Amino acid sequence: MAEAGLDATIDGVGNVIGRSRNPGSALLIGSHSDTQPTGGWLDGAMGVIYALEIARSLGEDGETRALAVDVASWIDEEGAYFSFLGSKSFCAEPMPDAWAQVTGRDGRSLAEAIAAAEFAGRAPARLDPARHIGYLEAHIEQGGRLEAAGKRIGVVTNIVGIRNFIIAFKGAQNHAGTTPMPLRRDAGAALIDLAYAIRARFAELAGADTVWTIGHIELHPGAPSIIPGRAEMVLQFRDPAESRLDLLEATLHSLVAAANAAGHIEIAFAAAKDGVAATAMDGELQRHLGIAAEAHAPGGWMLMPSGAGHDAQILARHVPSAMLFVPSIGGISHDFAEDTAEDDVVLGCQVLATACVSILRELARTAPAGRRV
Ligand SMILES: [Zn+2]
Repeated sequence: MAEAGLDATIDGVGNVIGRSRNPGSALLIGSHSDTQPTGGWLDGAMGVIYALEIARSLGEDGETRALAVDVASWIDEEGAYFSFLGSKSFCAEPMPDAWAQVTGRDGRSLAEAIAAAEFAGRAPARLDPARHIGYLEAHIEQGGRLEAAGKRIGVVTNIVGIRNFIIAFKGAQNHAGTTPMPLRRDAGAALIDLAYAIRARFAELAGADTVWTIGHIELHPGAPSIIPGRAEMVLQFRDPAESRLDLLEATLHSLVAAANAAGHIEIAFAAAKDGVAATAMDGELQRHLGIAAEAHAPGGWMLMPSGAGHDAQILARHVPSAMLFVPSIGGISHDFAEDTAEDDVVLGCQVLATACVSILRELARTAPAGRRV
């Protein structure tokens, strides 16, 4: 970062921020540099390197040298302690209760990890509303839509909202050989019936970008000769529109109510705390990204939602934000096999750089420093 002409700091949670020495309005560009266990090499890191490369190359060109690009490498996007730790801290969002005592997989608390890294006592880096006029983040797609469509660039319209529900079934545990079928209160059978009803009904209500998953099921006590007395499943659904998430949640309510009314198994459900709201990307920044994509790859780009969460959804609550995707080969991510064609890695950075310049130039023409795009 220093070689690229940036003033680099590591803040009190571990965010690495490179601030341009140019005064006036700045674009913030970045992503995260943490990863998943056995994750790939591009998830997050590519977007940080794009930001660094854009800051470096604009600084080397006399035409763009006066433009200000600040670079961010967010800590813990993936949630080793909790998701979006770095970007939430940067935006001064409220932290969960006792946030510093949250423990990672090694049993160490976040406070201990920060102290061990010698970041304790450093000031948190913060979004500067008088300086940062927008946030751009590039990322691999982590899915197969671009590849399937034969496109090389995705301009993100929305980041999907996510809702998780824990659904609990209470019946009566009993002997699987001596209890006749009409006398059973089988919590496992009730779970399967409801799971099937959800699949059928959600398929009727789904939009093109709706996904839903029953990712976890437990039958208690879980033995071949015991009728399950209790059962539990976790249902997750995602969609770019809060209105459709509301519809799916209302549908879940009515399916559970109908199952409770019809059967003799008690079914209760609760929303898990880790849901996130759907987030729209800034329309004006999307327009700049689309023009830049068309210039570098005519006809080779498309608008699309993001099915994964990203730091941009946190930044978007505070400053106009937008995202650009490049294709993931085979749609693979969160795996060592994750990769992107080298030409596409280069193209994505060129598109982001062109958009960055046009955003900063347009702003200089039309708005005083400090005004939001
Ligand atoms: Zn990521």
